[in-house]
Amino acid sequence: MKRYIDDYKQKGLRRQLVDSIKQKGITDENVLAAINNIPRHYFLDTAFESIAYEDRAFPIGEGQTISQPYTVAYQTQLLEVKSFEKVLEIGTGSAYQSCVLGELKANVYTIERQKKLFDEVKKFAFKSKYPTLRFFYGDGYEGLPTYAPFDKILVTAAAPHIPQKLLSQLKIGGKMVIPVGGGNVQRMLRITRVAENDFAEEVFDNFSFVPMLTGKNS
Ligand code: SAH
Repeated sequence: MKRYIDDYKQKGLRRQLVDSIKQKGITDENVLAAINNIPRHYFLDTAFESIAYEDRAFPIGEGQTISQPYTVAYQTQLLEVKSFEKVLEIGTGSAYQSCVLGELKANVYTIERQKKLFDEVKKFAFKSKYPTLRFFYGDGYEGLPTYAPFDKILVTAAAPHIPQKLLSQLKIGGKMVIPVGGGNVQRMLRITRVAENDFAEEVFDNFSFVPMLTGKNS
């Protein structure tokens, strides 16, 4: 049984982590505050607790990972989230990124295709701190048509191409941040829906994500 204790030691390590991602170029104070507020060690197996505040990805089971804090901060900064915006996240994983969005007071709809990870996250005690998070089991390529349109869409797995169904679920003026590329390296893109049939694309740095897969996995 995992114990949820956040003491001065973890808080100190977390401040160091925030300093290091600041040095790597994250400037959004709200994003930095969110990283500073969330006990990342709660999201990892007890075995990884002592290294939870290193700026790197870790395994969370089912061959999946919790993203590197710098990557989480980078994507969140690009998303320019404002309070009460409707944000769709593809790839719940550990729900660490979802909680960062929760800290920014977004209304978060997050989808996971791996049943086991979805079930883990559902019983996750810490999530009660974020009443604006809703968890869905499904295929992120489909998005959530029932809840569309969204102000923002965040994809946290490597998409081989830009999923058209997700574009169609963006509000006019809405933005999607998505790592695109089939190999080991993806380009971070930010796509803005300028008008019904007009999308503007900006290209940012390279990252390495686990692949965005099709269908659900029970
Ligand atoms: N945001 C997560 C990162 C998880 S890694 C975190 O902060 O921990 C990417 C996740 O995307 C994995 O859990 C993987 O199972 C999930 N995934 C991959 N393809 C998907 C799809 N088509 N729909 C929903 N989730 C998907």
